[in-house]
Amino acid sequence: MSESHIIIAIDGYSSTGKSSFAKRIASAYGLLYLDSGALYRAVTLVAMENGFISDGKLDISLLQPFLGDLNIHFRDNGPEGNQTFIGGRNVEKEIRSMEVSSNVSPVAADRNVRNYVDGILHEMGRQRSVVMDGRDIGTTVFPEADLKIFMTADPSVRAMRRAAELKAKGQECPLEDVLKNLQERDYIDSHREISPLTQAPDAIVLDNSNMTFDDQMQWIAGIMKQKFNLKPLDE
Ligand code: C5P
Repeated sequence: MSESHIIIAIDGYSSTGKSSFAKRIASAYGLLYLDSGALYRAVTLVAMENGFISDGKLDISLLQPFLGDLNIHFRDNGPEGNQTFIGGRNVEKEIRSMEVSSNVSPVAADRNVRNYVDGILHEMGRQRSVVMDGRDIGTTVFPEADLKIFMTADPSVRAMRRAAELKAKGQECPLEDVLKNLQERDYIDSHREISPLTQAPDAIVLDNSNMTFDDQMQWIAGIMKQKFNLKPLDE
């Protein structure tokens, strides 16, 4: 990678705050933010709406013919920020529902689905300097990433944060259900055959169980300065 083209990979467990952190880094340093989980969630929504998932299992032979024409992409929707679209339809809210969360990990375990998502991520990472968050960005999608961060936090802290986030969006859900969903997703994501969630050997671990958002921004500022000699745009 050239000095002016930077790829930052942020991987880790569910609801460790990867997206919020990655988003803030991108805006602070003028990079493009890419949420790989949103792409898996959008594919899952399509599969659910078309009845391609039954008993938690995806029938890939039914989904496969759709994949090439799905046109899943991100659009900057002004004050709403970056939103996920399937064709002309804004699906940002639907893909964050508990129903999609409950079905996404088996869908993301499929090789064809992963190839489809990786294609989109590779294309975008080639064009611009990016901060991507996901489960396999530093291990599989961009193993040559310039900076890899692996995020973790205590499961009960993660569940509380996620439940609060859902509540703020008007989707109240019992804490035990949120915790169960996180643990199930972590298990499936870490144990699948293709691109399992695992810490890249050269990743820096960030356990944010007891950190505020500002603490995390200070932490990354030190790394950005040391590694790339970059300061936040507003400094
Ligand atoms: O990041 P988020 O929680 O929105 O991701 C939803 C799901 O998508 C994860 O639980 C995981 O199953 C899948 N995923 C993945 N690889 C990525 C990003 C997300 O398998 N790079």
